[in-house]
Amino acid sequence: MASIFWVTCPRCRQKFYCHTRDLRHTEWKLLCPFCQNRFHQDESPEILE
Ligand SMILES: [Zn+2]
Repeated sequence: MASIFWVTCPRCRQKFYCHTRDLRHTEWKLLCPFCQNRFHQDESPEILE
């Protein structure tokens, strides 16, 4: 089973998932697929792992 985590976009509040191995606990900025907002995962109001 793929390891993913869910983030919430701080701008549009939509949830989307990312692959943990590639992205979790990195400085990589996430790209919201709904509003194209780029944000750091620490800015997400909610993260589900
Ligand atoms: Zn968004």
